[in-house]
Order: sequence, then C-alpha cells, then structure tokens
Amino acid sequence: MLPDIKHAIRLQILDDRITVLTKEIAALPKHIAEIEKKLEGHLRRLEADKAALSANQKDRKKMETDIQTNEQKISKLKGQMNDAKNNEQYQAFQHEIGFCQQEIARCEERILVLMGASEPLDQNVKAAEVALAAEKKDVDAEKKRMQERTVADRQEIEKLKGERVGIVAQMTPKIASEYERIRKGRAGVAIAEAVNGRCSKCNIMLRPQFLQDLKLGHSIMICESCRRMLYYNAPESFDDLVPQSVRDTAPGR
Ligand SMILES: [Zn+2]
Repeated sequence: MLPDIKHAIRLQILDDRITVLTKEIAALPKHIAEIEKKLEGHLRRLEADKAALSANQKDRKKMETDIQTNEQKISKLKGQMNDAKNNEQYQAFQHEIGFCQQEIARCEERILVLMGASEPLDQNVKAAEVALAAEKKDVDAEKKRMQERTVADRQEIEKLKGERVGIVAQMTPKIASEYERIRKGRAGVAIAEAVNGRCSKCNIMLRPQFLQDLKLGHSIMICESCRRMLYYNAPESFDDLVPQSVRDTAPGR
C-alpha cells in the first residue's frame, strides 16, 4: 500500500473522531439546558402547590375568625334579648341569632372542605420538596460531569490535531491537499475501502480492470462514482496465519 494512502486512512480515522468529539461538545449545553428546564418545571409546580396550600390556610383562618365574630354576636344578642321590651323585639333578636348560627354553620362546612383539600396538597408539597432536593443534586452532578467531559473532549481534539499535523507533514503535499478537498466536499469522508468489488461508501461496483489496478496499489485511485480516494486491503492469506511447521505436514503438500 502506498504510504500516502496509509496516511490518508489514518487521517480519516482521526478526522472521524474529531467530528464525533466536536458534535458532542456542541450537544452538551443543550443537554444541560434540558435538564435545567425540567428542574425549573418541577420547582414551579412545587411553588404553585405551596401557594395553594397557603391560600387554603389563610381561608381557614378567616373562617375561624368569622365563627368567633358570630359567636360573640350571638352572646351579645342573647344578653340584649333578656332586656327585650316586647314580643316583636324578642323575635327580631331571635331572627338575628338564627342568621348568625347559619353563618357559623356555613363557615364550619367550608372549613371541612378546606381541610379535605389541604391534606393532599400538604403531602404533595412535602414529597415534592424531597424529590426536588434529590433532583437538584443530580442536575448539579450531571452539569459537573458534562463540564469535565467537555474539557476532556477538547484535550483529546488537541491531541488528535497534533497527530494530524505530523501525518500531513509526511504526505505528498498534493495528496494531502487532495484529501482535504475531497473530505470537505464529501460529507467529511475522503477515503473509502473497496470491499467485495464495490466502493464501500457509494456502493458502486468497480470495473474489473479498475479493481485490478487498485489491488496492485501503484497509484492513488479515485472512485469513478463518488470521487473519493479508494484503497484495497488484501485479505490475509491463510498461509501467513499457519506456522511453517504445520504447513509442511499438512495433507496434500
Ligand atoms: Zn465511491
């Protein structure tokens, strides 16, 4: 295999990795924003439940005050009733007392409704507070992990770029720039392997003569369909894998 092709294959491996890392770095802030948004949503729901609970308690307090006020009114009216001058006055006091009693009954009923509603709210708030504290801890840990990941990715990219410079320096300048040109115009892929007589990238069947020349490996060959550099990896021969001593005693030899 031509050294330029070997170098181009290595460049492609490095460039693929750089692309993956670059995409990862770009995706991390979006991931962080998503988990923060989810946390924010849970926080808002907790605040809404807390507000509803506090409104419920305020309402109950008001009902209790109303009951007290009406009870005081009743005891005052009862005192006045004793001094009633005539039947008409007496009935008027009685009527007013009845009204206050109705008010008390209405408040008591409302308190029961509020108490029923506050119980699940109270449980929600308590559970949400616990869950939210755990979630916040998770989000903070995830953010830290993402930041560390970004730093590590950047370091790896720098290392890969360093290796890349070294490889390009060893290549024929024209081939190196050709690699670059094809890579930019072909979705980041400049070189493809010929597998089973086809270009593995565009899948075109290579002409027999073309494949023959490619296998010889005397020159840089470009896929006639996708215009990428092609290389051919000869399968390792069985003979190379079996030790000489075994081959000598193998049947048919
Ligand atoms: Zn092709």
